[in-house]
Amino acid sequence: MKLRKIMVIGAGQMGAGIAQVCAQAGFDLVLYDINKLNLEKGLDTIEKNLARQVKKNRMSEDKKEETIKKIKGSTSVDEAAGADLIIEAVIENMNVKRDVFARLDELAPDHTIFASNTSSLPITEIAAATDRPEKVIGMHFMNPVPVMKLVEIIRGLATSDDVYKKMEDLIKMLGKVPVEVNDFPGFVSNRILMPMINEAIYTLYEGIATKEAIDEVMKLGMHHPMGPIQLADFIGLDTCLSVMEILHEGFGDDKYRPCPLLRKYVKAGWVGKKAGRGFYTYG
Ligand code: NAD
Repeated sequence: MKLRKIMVIGAGQMGAGIAQVCAQAGFDLVLYDINKLNLEKGLDTIEKNLARQVKKNRMSEDKKEETIKKIKGSTSVDEAAGADLIIEAVIENMNVKRDVFARLDELAPDHTIFASNTSSLPITEIAAATDRPEKVIGMHFMNPVPVMKLVEIIRGLATSDDVYKKMEDLIKMLGKVPVEVNDFPGFVSNRILMPMINEAIYTLYEGIATKEAIDEVMKLGMHHPMGPIQLADFIGLDTCLSVMEILHEGFGDDKYRPCPLLRKYVKAGWVGKKAGRGFYTYG
């Protein structure tokens, strides 16, 4: 079955980016969100991103219009009935993701492939919420999706070779590089990145240095393009906390315990750039 129509579930930072790159590659795209305001925000972000590309002469006005026409925004999950591939990018919570996939399993045709953009949750457990575990796979895009080349590709225990190959081909078609990793908490990227971010927040919590100083040390000293505290704000502090909790629970090792300061910011609703305020404030 040829992939023609893709549905993206969740129009947040990641979902909007994934929808954009799929539409740019020529796929018919439905972007779905449970929350109308978030859907509108996601569609607006896509338009602004494309307009920026045109302004920088990296895309023609025609291509921008063509891409926008490919994307249909929707708050109806029933759209799943027409999708060949569904890519999920809702919040990083196992129960929410399992509920979403169980519902999609009822609505989508038998041939439809389900991919999750989870940063850290086991694909095998997500797949077990459906009656098609052989068609469920992890496709972990990086933020910001239109810019970052890497996609971690994760097989669940039951994922078929055919589905793996199809998704590997799709990732290449999107101009990205697939890297296969095994199904363990945090995969490779967040197994390494999140403990570093968490440690940077501990460094702030213990008063070792200011946030600006911590970010400066890692930028100038380690050649990181962005400091870890600022990066945490860009990822979303809620997502960072969820990933640390998943690593902590999944490995049962206290070296992954989330910093209390991270918890405090999430409880305050200061979850980073998307909320206008995290460790830094955003206009
Ligand atoms: P986000 O908070 O920006 O967006 C989540 C969206 O999902 C929101 O618009 C929300 O309304 C929607 N949503 C929530 N429950 C829903 C449901 N039941 N049905 C439909 N929509 C629903 O989050 P994000 O940063 O885009 O992250 C999404 C996923 O991508 C998470 O699993 C996260 O771990 C993963 N991820 C995030 C990053 C990152 O840097 N932020 C990078 C890679 C992967």
